[in-house]
Amino acid sequence: MFDKILIANRGEIACRVMETARRLGVKTVAVYSDADERARHVALADQAVHIGGPAPGESYLKGDVIIRAALETGAQAIHPGYGFLSENPDFVEAVEAAGLVFIGPSADAIRKMGLKDAAKALMEEANVPVVPGYHGKNQDPEHLSGAADAIGYPVLIKAVAGGGGKGMRLVEKPADFMDSLKSAQGEARTAFGNPDVLIEKYVQQPRHIEVQVFGNGARAVHLFERDCSLQRRHQKVIEEAPAPGMIPEMRAAMGAAAVRAAEAIGYKGAGTIEFIVDGADGLRTDGFWFMEMNTRLQVEHPVTEAITGVDLVEWQLRVASGEGLPMSQSDLSISGHAFEARIYAEDVPKGFLPATGTLSHLEFPATARVDSGVRPGDTISPWYDPMIAKLVVHGATREIALKQLETALRHTDVAGTVTNVSFLALLSAQPDFVAGRVDTGLIARDLERLSVTPVACTKARSVAALSALGLMRGAKAAPGPAFVMWTPLEHSVALMHHDARIDAKVTVVGTGDYRVDLGDARHHVWYGEGAWWVDQTKVQARMARYGADLTVFWGNAYHFHVIDPLEREDEAGVGGNLIAAPMPGLIKAVYAEAGQVVSQGDRLAVLEAMKMEHSLLAVRDGVVAEVLVRDGQQVEEGAALIRLEEDEEAAA
Ligand code: ADP
Repeated sequence: MFDKILIANRGEIACRVMETARRLGVKTVAVYSDADERARHVALADQAVHIGGPAPGESYLKGDVIIRAALETGAQAIHPGYGFLSENPDFVEAVEAAGLVFIGPSADAIRKMGLKDAAKALMEEANVPVVPGYHGKNQDPEHLSGAADAIGYPVLIKAVAGGGGKGMRLVEKPADFMDSLKSAQGEARTAFGNPDVLIEKYVQQPRHIEVQVFGNGARAVHLFERDCSLQRRHQKVIEEAPAPGMIPEMRAAMGAAAVRAAEAIGYKGAGTIEFIVDGADGLRTDGFWFMEMNTRLQVEHPVTEAITGVDLVEWQLRVASGEGLPMSQSDLSISGHAFEARIYAEDVPKGFLPATGTLSHLEFPATARVDSGVRPGDTISPWYDPMIAKLVVHGATREIALKQLETALRHTDVAGTVTNVSFLALLSAQPDFVAGRVDTGLIARDLERLSVTPVACTKARSVAALSALGLMRGAKAAPGPAFVMWTPLEHSVALMHHDARIDAKVTVVGTGDYRVDLGDARHHVWYGEGAWWVDQTKVQARMARYGADLTVFWGNAYHFHVIDPLEREDEAGVGGNLIAAPMPGLIKAVYAEAGQVVSQGDRLAVLEAMKMEHSLLAVRDGVVAEVLVRDGQQVEEGAALIRLEEDEEAAA
């Protein structure tokens, strides 16, 4: 086994690799860009080397710089993760030329699978079924159009150098062929520098089922299948293993074909053979065709780990360091069912637009495996894929595991950015998916319903109002509301929720006991016995407050913005004279002193919280009566920091 490896990646996969390396006693070296100096993968590594600017081309794609970092830190091998340099044969050769081990396949194996047309030809030779179509060299449009006619419509045009669904066009009828060809070639030229395409029969009601393989350079085993049919624009959303409705004969046939494919190219390490499956009327042993091979560890590898009990990264390290295959085919078996959901910072109603933000709150349920590259307070930057985490569940049956997935998603609390969590939760309860009737068109057919933004009900709004007033904290905080001597019996607060203003009146009716009036609704909210109760019903609400932003997690994440809270407190007769800490943090600077005349908006102090600095401003013109904190002091949320003298006009 290696003493030390370098991980040429970032995010969750870099962290994932380091966790296994650590368990095996292998030291780790991280590399990082300017944008990732404080990233989780850097914190987890034994050593970390800065490799350049935030754009991938200036850092994570700089093979020479990464190899130098490995040599300088004494790493013996490089794990590429997925993406970036993981399927770049030139990088593999450079790593080996530097006397290091590439944890993955040979450059030759990657090249053989690199172009879809050549890979298909090779697979035909190895007796692996391929999708009927044309994958020859002749790129003359008339010839390609003739090939499409011969195959029979609908057809799919695919860029031979394609990936991520780019350069791919579905053509329904001959009249559309030439236009689609032109646009596919244009996109392929821009994205891959190679305009060549192949033509395939478009499989109706297609399912994407892939087989995990593992080779030692000569022999290979398979670790069964994953179903990745839940896709949006050819991108996987939720994956599962095993495939619903899989029959033993088809599993055996697909596994054997995948092993033939891997052995045909002398594959070493973890790889995936992707098949397209005709799901129109049940699974059959002759209803699957090779699409492509991914010559790396895949994002969705955890579902295979869950059902086989194998740590695929451990296998990668062991085989790369010279050991044989850790298990034989007959030793491998499937136990239970697993799902993985990919949680992203993205704006679902806005067409899944990638989002950025600082994760002011991040909490996952203990019932799921969570592979993540971020911690609370970390930032989702615009430089990389906006993944927050992968949530993986494993249960005895598909039904149990899917229920676990939905529950886990409903207990995934993220604030500070928009996410696809509620979309994933709705998807995990989608009737066709629940019934195992999956195909790659499922999400698109139900997209409108799945992408609605959840709107808070009046109960959730009541909870938000209490939280905004600081009267109610997360159920995990110390029990009991922050009751203070001068709390009046009535408070009012205004919140924004989805561009609508909510005015709430909160009346204290007992210790920790409140009535919330929203105009159109009234609820009774109470904290007791370690939980929150709304109208005599115990509820699972959790809260996160970050400055004026407030999120109530209650089945969904409901975001609120608290309108001018200090002014409001003034109305209620308490806080107009007090500048309080809006969240727990460290006082970085105090600019005010007793007796000082200040104007509204003057900066009186700076609070550092969640790695960000927040200026605390004077809410009105006045005179500082008292400074209650000093530099370097840690303060609680709501702590009084600076008091202004009684407002004369108000007093008069
Ligand atoms: P890329 O490399 O760009 O991701 P793939 O060849 O892996 O392209 O295909 C991506 C997705 O496109 C598949 O998962 C499947 O949903 C769909 N697809 C690919 N080939 C076919 C086909 N012949 N018929 C129907 N759908 C297909």
